[in-house]
Order: sequence, then structure tokens, then C-alpha cells
Amino acid sequence: MSKLAIICVDDDEFVLNSLGEQLTRSFGQDYVIEMASSGEDALALIAELETKGIDIPLVISDQIMPRMKGDQLLTQIHALYPKPLKIMLTGQVDPDAIVNVVNAAKLYRYITKPWDETDLILTVKEALRRYTQEQHLAVQNHALRQMNEELEKSLALLKATFESTADGILVIDTNGKVGNFNQKFVELWNIPDSIIGLKDGDRALAFALDQLTNPDSFLSKIREMDTQSTPASYELLELKNSKTIECYSQPQWFEGKSVGKVWSFRDITERKQAEEYVRHQARHDFLTGLSNRVQFNERLSEVLAIADQKENLFAILFIDLDRFKLVNDTLGHAIGDLLLQLVVERLTTCLRGGDLIARWGGDEFTLLLPKISCAEDASMVAQRILNSLNPGFNVEGHHIHITSSIGIAVYPQDGQDAETLVKNADAALYRAKEGGRNDFQRYMVTINSQARELLALENSLHQALERQELIVYYQPQINTVTGEIVQMEALVRWQHPELGLLAPRIFIPLAEENGLILNIGEWVLQTACAQNKAWQSMGLSNLCVGVNLAARQLQQPNLPQKVADALAQTGLEAHFLELEITETAALQNVELTKESLTELHQMGVQIAMDDFGTGYSSLSYLRQFPFNTLKIDQSFIRDLLANPKDIEIVIAIVALGQGLKLKVVAEGVETESIRDRLIDLKCELMQGYFFGRPLPAEDATRLLMGQN
Ligand code: C2E
Ligand code: MG
Ligand code: MG
Repeated sequence: MSKLAIICVDDDEFVLNSLGEQLTRSFGQDYVIEMASSGEDALALIAELETKGIDIPLVISDQIMPRMKGDQLLTQIHALYPKPLKIMLTGQVDPDAIVNVVNAAKLYRYITKPWDETDLILTVKEALRRYTQEQHLAVQNHALRQMNEELEKSLALLKATFESTADGILVIDTNGKVGNFNQKFVELWNIPDSIIGLKDGDRALAFALDQLTNPDSFLSKIREMDTQSTPASYELLELKNSKTIECYSQPQWFEGKSVGKVWSFRDITERKQAEEYVRHQARHDFLTGLSNRVQFNERLSEVLAIADQKENLFAILFIDLDRFKLVNDTLGHAIGDLLLQLVVERLTTCLRGGDLIARWGGDEFTLLLPKISCAEDASMVAQRILNSLNPGFNVEGHHIHITSSIGIAVYPQDGQDAETLVKNADAALYRAKEGGRNDFQRYMVTINSQARELLALENSLHQALERQELIVYYQPQINTVTGEIVQMEALVRWQHPELGLLAPRIFIPLAEENGLILNIGEWVLQTACAQNKAWQSMGLSNLCVGVNLAARQLQQPNLPQKVADALAQTGLEAHFLELEITETAALQNVELTKESLTELHQMGVQIAMDDFGTGYSSLSYLRQFPFNTLKIDQSFIRDLLANPKDIEIVIAIVALGQGLKLKVVAEGVETESIRDRLIDLKCELMQGYFFGRPLPAEDATRLLMGQN
């Protein structure tokens, strides 16, 4: 480390040397004693030492010198280098010069010549001590200034952060007093200027709290100042104006002690609404606004959990619209969608509070009845649903009749978990469809295996036609007055390679659902017409053949053409063909049906209303369609003798037939006594096992030949 320098200035060489010697003796060890004989030399010397980085604690200068006086020199030095202490040597005391230099150069002391060495040494020693102290202080001051600057900077930064954050911030001390809050806090809680003007944080907080739906619980949290362990916390605050504010608190620690908490608030109303919207979308069906599968399953799990504990009963209904695909296929998806919405309106009228209906997909709906006291309750709701669809729908000018089939599964008997319950309700639905639709079925243990079989059937049904597994049977229709067979009804069968001979009720509903009925129906028509032609060529003339038409076939705009083609190809005359149509099928698209039937009627084809009495039995429609025949459904005939109401119905239908000039045929006549009763009631045309079961073509031929 370079030594410190003491500078002595005097034009008197002797004085300068003796001064130098005395100082060297006392301070030479630690200081370099530099000497200059004029003010100019002194300035040059100082400049040189400064450039070398040598510190100069003290300059001792004579006052009376030729060019530059001591006071001038010291003043200049002070202006250039304020650090060194300055001592003046004077022959006689010139108070003015001294006052001057004290002011201008901050003179430390003056020493009169000649001086006492001890005095000089003591004075210089004191000056050096003072210098060291001042330097020390200066360093300390500098460090302090720097610290201060840093502190101010970080405070400014903190303030900027405090104000620029997106969150409203509130600082509360350990006494529960509000220390500070930012502008965002003011905006978030709409704190009025009148309160802000008071600079009273507690009033600002009170104003905010007043907006909460539950201010007390939040207030107690804010006041809770457990200095030991107040952890960071998070909560959602609900406001009276239905906003939601998210709130975090962060305890502040200083030297191991809690000094308060910083609370930050953020308005998340929009985010919550967006979340809510997405949540709603994910759980609802867009078209109908009903819950979807996801929500249904969630609710089902909840209901299941409660039912499990409380041993409650509840039910699931699986609802499927019958032949809905037909509406889509014939009238288009837009109409189909509108119809679905109207159906949903009706379905919802059948619900009670707490019931949940969901769109399972397509035309399938699931219904959860969480509060039932017995299984019968579910059946009652199902019946209500069937009834609700009974009046037709008007969709943009189209009159549409639609029915539904419903499967019911009741907890706990029909399944103990969600999946099984839904699966079994679905299986029961299949059964309801198979039973003829527009009906409901409760799940039975045996259904499941049957449903599985049905699915397999659906797959193999596609190949049944190609593999020629379908067969037409014929059942005679008798004129009981003459005893003659007047008609043969074609009834299709499926010779299934594994399951054996299957009745149409097993596969026709499937074929209707998947559209295969069109191919099947066309084939039956062709086969039956060809068969009748064959019988005619055998001399069995005057025989009409009855062919059943499915609803879907009726919806084909080119149906009359198809029938004309079949007649042309087989060479059968039109009046030897009777098409059998059920009421439900006829009413599905009234306009189109009317058009097709009229055209067929004009061609000479006979039209029969099949299963009469089981559908809407609407007389107004009956008049609109060109029917030739009414076939009384076998359900009225079966118990005719035991059931007086059935007798009334038969009497009414016979009278109706007479009035409208229609033939009336009783179906399902199984006994002689029923035949006789029907003859009494003036119903003379009959069909049923009593006269003959449906027979394969060869057997039917033999039967006809035998009669001849
Ligand atoms: P349907 O047109 O009403 O036919 C009469 C049904 O009653 C036939 O059943 C017949 O076997 C049955 N039957 C006749 N006499 C008696 C009787 O005395 N007692 C009882 N218990 N039943 C009797 P099947 O052949 O099982 O046909 C059932 C239904 O399937 C038919 O009812 C018809 O709606 C439909 N179906 C049959 N073949 C075809 C077809 O080729 N196309 C269409 N679309 N449907 C068909
Ligand atoms: Mg029939
Ligand atoms: Mg029938």
C-alpha cells in the first residue's frame, strides 16, 4: 500500500527543511513528507501525487510567499482537492487573511512562527487523526447513501408492483388493522372516493365486506391472526350481486415473527361463467337441451350411492321412439329434429320433481326416477309417457304419429350398479319393441340372453335374403257362409340356420328398424303374387292373396310403382292382390299414405286395414283412405265369449263396415264356438287356426286343391 503524504510549503529553505525534519522524525514511518518552495510547486506536486493515487491528508503552508500567498494556495488546493486538512504557518497573525482562508479553504489550524516543535507535532497528530476519522466517516456515509438508494429503488419497485398487479391487494397487520390497499382493490370493490379520501383502510374493508353474501365468516378469517402458524389460504367469495371473487392470503414474516397478512382479490365471475358454460355444454344435449349421458351417469351414481345407504328403490326407464328413423329418412333430418324437440316437450310433462330425463343419443332417452315406492310407480310413469305421445304431432304441416317403446329396470332387483341397470333397461326395451312396440316392459332375468340373440339376429338378417332363408307361409281366409277359401294371407317366416323357424314378430321389428324390411317386403310381394298366379294357372281362380305392408314400405314414394312392377312381372291382375296395412303405419305420414293408397286403389288393388281396433281407430282417417276391408284384431276375438265388451266392439265394427261398405274379417278364430258367435254377429269372413294355420306354399296348395 502506498504511503500517505504530508506536504510542506515554504519559500524559506531553512524553515522548510526544519519543518520537514521535525515531521519526518515524528511521522516519517507512516507518511512521506513532501516539500515545495512555492505555491506553484506545491500545486504541481499535489497533482502528481494524485495521479499516482497517493492520498494527502495534510498540507502545511507558509502564508507569506513571493507570488502565490499561502491563503491563495490553500484556497486553490481546497477548490481542487477538498480532502486534505490545511494548516497555515504565519509570522504574524493577520486576522483577515485567516478568516478568509478559514472560510474559503476550510483551514484547520494556523501555527505562528517560530513554533514549538511539540505543539506542531501534537497539532499535526490531531489533524491526522481527524483526517482518518473523516475518511472513515465518509466511507460509512457513502455506504449508507448507497443502501438508502437501493432501499428507495426497491420501495419504488414494490409500489409499482403493488399498483400494477391485476389483483386488488389489502395489507392487514397483526392487530387486524388495514395497513394499505391498492387502486385495483378500490376498483374491484367500487370503493367510493368519500371513503378513499379518509385514507381509512378499515372503512374501505368494511365497505367491501358489506357486499359479501356471508361477510361474517370472511371477517373472522381476516381477523384471525395466529402469529404462530397462519398458512397461506385460498377461498371463493360470493357477492350479493352474484359475482365471484377469488381470494388468497399470504402471511408476512419478519425476523421469525408474523407481521400481518397480504390479501389479494381477483374477480373471476367471467371465468366462472365460462367454466359453467363449458360444464353445462359437456353435460347437455345441444338439440333438446336435455341432460346428456354424462350428466345422467353422474346423477345415477349419486342416486345409487344414496339408495345404497337408505335402501331406497329407484328406476331407470330406457325410452326409444318407434320407427323414428323412418321420419328422418322420409321427411328429412330437419323435421326429425323438430319432432324430437316436440317429443321432449311431451316427455317432460310426465316427470315429477327430482326425475331426470336425458337424451341418450339419437331417438333414445333415459329417465331416472329416484323416488319410487314400488316398481308399479315406474310402470305408471311409462304408461303416462306412452299416452303423452298419443295425440299426433304437427311438424311444419306434416301430421306425424309416433309411439315409443320403454324398458324399465328397478334398483335393486334388476341390477345393483349403474352399468347393469342401464343395460337391463335397454334389454327390456328390446323386449318391448319385439312385443309390438308402443308398450313398456319391465326387465326380466331371461331378457338379457334374448337381447343378445336379437343382436346376433340383426347381423344375420342381412344375409337371410341372399341365402334364401326366408319363406312365405299362407293362411286361408274363409267365407263362412259358403265355406270357401276366398283369400290366402302371405306371412313371412325365417328359416334360421341355428335358431330354426322364426316367427315374423322376432325379426320384422328389426328389419323395420334397420331398413331391410324394404327388400324383404318386396320379395314377399313378388313371391305371393307369383304364387297366386301359379294357383290360378292350376285352376284355383278367384282367390285373392293378402300381403302385409310395413310402415316403412308405405313411406316409399314409389310404392304404387313397385306394386305395379310386381303385378306386371308375375302377370297377376291387380284385384287378386290385397295389401294389409296397420293403422299405426297408415297414420305415420297421412298425406303420402293417402296418395299411395288412392293410386293403388285406382289400379284395382284391394286395401285392408289390419289389426283394426288396436291403434287410433280414428274414423276420420278411415274415411280418407280407400279401404276395402277391415280386419278385426285377434285380441277382440280371442276372449269374445267371455268378454261382453269385445262383443260390443265386434258389433260396432261390423256396423261400421256395413255403413262404409267395407268387408269385415275376424282374425284369430280358434274355436267352433267363436266362429258361431261371429256368425251370429254377422261377421262372416274369418281367419284363424280353427280353419287353418299358416302353411308353406306346397301344403297351402294341397289345402286349396282339397277344397276344390
Ligand atoms: P297379421 O298380419 O295380423 O297376421 C296374422 C297373425 O296372426 C299371423 O301371425 C298368424 O299366424 C296369426 N294367427 C292367425 N290365426 C290365428 C289364430 O287363430 N290364433 C292365433 N293365436 N294367431 C293366429 P304371424 O304369421 O306370426 O305374423 C305376425 C305379424 O307379422 C302379422 O300380423 C304381420 O303384421 C306381420 N307379418 C307377417 N308377414 C309379414 C310380411 O311379409 N311383411 C310385413 N310387413 N309384416 C308381416
Ligand atoms: Mg295381416
Ligand atoms: Mg292382423
